[in-house]
Amino acid sequence: MTSYVQDAINAVYVVAVLVFILGLKAMSGPSTARRGIVYAGAAMLLAVVVTFASPGLSNFLLIFVGVAIGGLGGWYWARVVKMTAMPQMVAMFNGMGGGSAAAIAAVEMLGHLSDLTSSSLSLAGAVIGSISIAGSIIAFLKLQGWMTSKPIVLPARQVVNTAVLVVGVGFGLYALVVLHTFWLLPFYVLLLLYGILLTLPIGGADMPVVISLFNALTGIAVGLDGFALVNGPLGDAGYAMVIAGVLVGAAGSLLTLLMAKAMNRSVSNVFFSAFGATEETGAAVQGQLKPIDAADAAIQMAYANQVIIVPGYGMAVAQAQQKVKELADLLEAKGVTVKFAIHPVAGRMPGHMNVLLAEAGISYDKLFDRDEINAEFPATDVAFVIGANDVVNPAAHRQGSPLYGMPILDVEQAKNVIVNKRGQGKGFAGVENDLFYRDNTRMLYGDAQTAVGKLVSELKKAT
Ligand code: NDP
Repeated sequence: MTSYVQDAINAVYVVAVLVFILGLKAMSGPSTARRGIVYAGAAMLLAVVVTFASPGLSNFLLIFVGVAIGGLGGWYWARVVKMTAMPQMVAMFNGMGGGSAAAIAAVEMLGHLSDLTSSSLSLAGAVIGSISIAGSIIAFLKLQGWMTSKPIVLPARQVVNTAVLVVGVGFGLYALVVLHTFWLLPFYVLLLLYGILLTLPIGGADMPVVISLFNALTGIAVGLDGFALVNGPLGDAGYAMVIAGVLVGAAGSLLTLLMAKAMNRSVSNVFFSAFGATEETGAAVQGQLKPIDAADAAIQMAYANQVIIVPGYGMAVAQAQQKVKELADLLEAKGVTVKFAIHPVAGRMPGHMNVLLAEAGISYDKLFDRDEINAEFPATDVAFVIGANDVVNPAAHRQGSPLYGMPILDVEQAKNVIVNKRGQGKGFAGVENDLFYRDNTRMLYGDAQTAVGKLVSELKKAT
């Protein structure tokens, strides 16, 4: 009887896994991403519910209370979170996954220290899960603004970090050798410390890559825990964890590599170079900021052949996407070709601009990524930058700049550049932007929603 139940449960796990894969596939395109999330959520719900039917499962009440607290907390937070605070929420949720993996590994090791296969897999899961939760908490604090987003570089950090990691793992291995759980305590303390030390020297601008890598690590930790569980009483649930962990690990690793590539950096450079810790030397900006009012900006755009709109974090903060859509429609009605240049790390999360513009009903075929659009700037009459800064900062071409090497949108090559921002605020990386001082640049000051709203009114007046 028990084996029939287990077979049925396993069949449901297979279904859940297939739906996970379909969900991941759907998430690879903006138009199907929402469906992908629903698929993945449904698969997770299915896998969790069916696990309650596992023969040999006990402590139902405790598990239920844990699921209820986590589920309600997550549901509430996800409902109230602002779009701009999404990265830190993802960092935190992901950190919870790493923490859970480390906790499961601890339980496994406490119970089965003598089973070398289980305990060494759990140890590996614990190493990765602990680094992931501690690092994710630091990422959260940096993105939330509760600690400086600048790199915090401690003296001799590479040596100290390596020593903490080696000694920490050493304690874990020692626990396996002497079969005494006491040594797991310093093991966990040092591994958590390593996660903190690893993340402190990474600047806020690199956090997307960091979060993505921790996400991949969490998946790997869960997968390793799953392998360890396979040997225990809930063996088959372990297989489901292995598959889910591997999917997360693979998807997270690919996203990490793609993002690092978009920033023209290697993943090891992101983690170990303390990027942005040094101030740029000898690169004072020259020229003057030249304001433009909405009426003149509207005229320039209305008489253009092509306008390229470059949205950034400021558009997200101001929730200006609807006004931007109105602006694009009005310009197109006047025969202007309007395109959107989307930088992969514009905003505060991968795909941030795509999501907002899609929400406003701007069709995907008007969105172009950096490689597709950069060659078009020299022949473009007006590049209209809305609340973007780092992703259009020509300092990225200058050796010695903290942004050096980051691929940017080359808006400075457009015939005219109009930049909307509220004042003299720097971008996320804190680097001065001389684009704003160039001869062909005019500053349209104001909150993005108000400023673009004024442009819309001016264009409507002229029709
Ligand atoms: P930036 O953060 O570089 O610049 C945003 C600009 O918007 C600021 O200079 C600010 O100037 C302006 N701004 C702020 N509020 C408003 C408003 N209400 N209306 C108009 N303008 C406003 O943004 P980018 O998108 O150019 O670059 C993103 C940066 O964030 C990159 O450094 C990236 O690495 C980093 N990052 C990206 C993540 C991602 O996954 N996409 C995640 C985390 C970080 P002012 O104050 O003068 O208005």
